[in-house]
Amino acid sequence: MDGELMRRIVAAVPLPLIAIGPDERILAANAAAQALFGQGLEGRHHLLTLRQPALQAAIAGALGEGATATARHVIPGPSQDVAYRVTVAPAGSGAALLTFEDVTEAEQMGQMRRDFVANVSHELRTPLTALLGFIETLRGAARDDAAARDRFLSIMEREAGRMNRLIGDLLQLSRVESEERVRPTTQVDLHALVASAAATLRPMADEAGVRIDITGEPAPLPIPADSDQITQVLVNLIENAVKYGGAGGSVTLHLAREQLPRGPGIRLDVIDRGEGIDPVHIPRLTERFYRVDGHRSREKGGTGLGLAIVKHIVQRHRGRIRIDSTPGKGSVFSVILPEA
Ligand code: ADP
Repeated sequence: MDGELMRRIVAAVPLPLIAIGPDERILAANAAAQALFGQGLEGRHHLLTLRQPALQAAIAGALGEGATATARHVIPGPSQDVAYRVTVAPAGSGAALLTFEDVTEAEQMGQMRRDFVANVSHELRTPLTALLGFIETLRGAARDDAAARDRFLSIMEREAGRMNRLIGDLLQLSRVESEERVRPTTQVDLHALVASAAATLRPMADEAGVRIDITGEPAPLPIPADSDQITQVLVNLIENAVKYGGAGGSVTLHLAREQLPRGPGIRLDVIDRGEGIDPVHIPRLTERFYRVDGHRSREKGGTGLGLAIVKHIVQRHRGRIRIDSTPGKGSVFSVILPEA
């Protein structure tokens, strides 16, 4: 193929593409490739631009033996590295064609999936190990000790309960994720949902000596929503406010109107007067299994998935989440949901 035709074909492809001639110099590089490696590539020896050994070996193979190969090529970026899968293929007359595919996102997804499986396994293994240990003790040393048996059984119940909650949260998370593209259309009264979630959680709050108040806009506050899912959001946020808000305090559920970019919305602030959260943690709180204090969260029966579920449900409703916190004073978790 003549050089001019090669250049025109290379220019037409949207992926970064570089053609190398039999003289080992770059014959053509399209605009996407120039965006990666800079201008003026044509005529330069490929070694000046493409130095990574894996890629060099693939180029040598294509130019020398006419073999097709792939290589991973990493370009350091300002905030993160960008990984490319480069396919080096012979292009006839001793030339080679390099195609660059950005595989950063795919690699990150793979890493996230592996981390998730590792986290879930770890979270399940801890209570399971405890259960196995107690079963062994009950069979052996504590066989005829009625008091110990009772104590161990209640610990076993707690550990089994933890596993049960974790599985429940995982199932909930996958259900919400699978529905995330379907926007809810049923009209529900957010005020009524807030009042009923508060009523459900009052016994638990009473036990912790925490008062729950509802303030702000009066009923009704109709919004298009999935009422079970919004109830889940409310329960998770109010439970956290009670759990982390400190005994003897109060939790305020404040309803207000707020403009969203695409129209009017209703905001619910879940306000506690607890220890608050250090700002470094705030951007990561909605990640799965992210906890400020893992030991404390587990002590209180937390799975570390509550806020991740909240985030997915709010996303499905095209709403927003805002977290404001002052260490030592308390936190405000706000959810803003569109009215129409
Ligand atoms: P968990 O099951 O651990 O409560 P969540 O996803 O609900 O999981 O919350 C993640 C972490 O965020 C918690 O472990 C806790 O450290 C922190 N957090 C959540 N709500 C509050 C709050 N109201 N005050 C202080 N910390 C909070």
